[in-house]
Amino acid sequence: FVTGKRKATEVAHSVWRSIVRKGDTVVDATCGNGNDTFALLKMVADERGQGRVYGMDIQDSAIDSTSSFLEMAVDSHEMELVKLFSVCHSRMEDIVPKDSPVRLVAFNLGYLPGGDKTIITIPRTTELALQAASRIVSSGGLISVLVYIGHLGGRDELDIVESFASSLPVDTWVSCKFEMINRPVAPVLVLLHKK
Ligand code: SAM
Repeated sequence: FVTGKRKATEVAHSVWRSIVRKGDTVVDATCGNGNDTFALLKMVADERGQGRVYGMDIQDSAIDSTSSFLEMAVDSHEMELVKLFSVCHSRMEDIVPKDSPVRLVAFNLGYLPGGDKTIITIPRTTELALQAASRIVSSGGLISVLVYIGHLGGRDELDIVESFASSLPVDTWVSCKFEMINRPVAPVLVLLHKK
């Protein structure tokens, strides 16, 4: 399913589509401009009003941007299925209801495109957020982490993500990595599948 996809985000979305079903609860841990939130919403929204996307970003401007984009792109019924929070993703457990099995937690790390490039995800909170995600994701679910390595600090963040991925117990997790070998600074996709 990844053949012919040039962008790592497209590869990530293909993987999500293979896991996520209508009616699922999913988390967008880095809303940014809302592109991933929109893609996730289209995957989970069903006609009975099931499906939830819990989105978060540390910047109010990103939450505003995501909200404006969705208001233009989806109908009011779908809009009701999205809950957006201006909060650090390390606190996702404060947001997602405890009785909602989470099928996917998606991270798209780095800085907000078109925004302040000095506000980036940082290894310490990314690590805490990955730990939180591993606690809330359900059996059969996925944590998807797109790691940008072209900016200062990007490779340190990849180190943290890979270290977390390799620490997961092999009897309950499958950790793998997708990288474009002929594009050395392209984002790296780390996938953590809970058995
Ligand atoms: N998914 C987005 C999209 O589709 O447009 C792109 C996300 S952008 C690459 C990374 C985002 O992570 C930025 O908007 C940034 O504000 C956000 N971010 C940085 N640190 C964060 C944190 N601790 N918790 C949540 N979001 C954070």
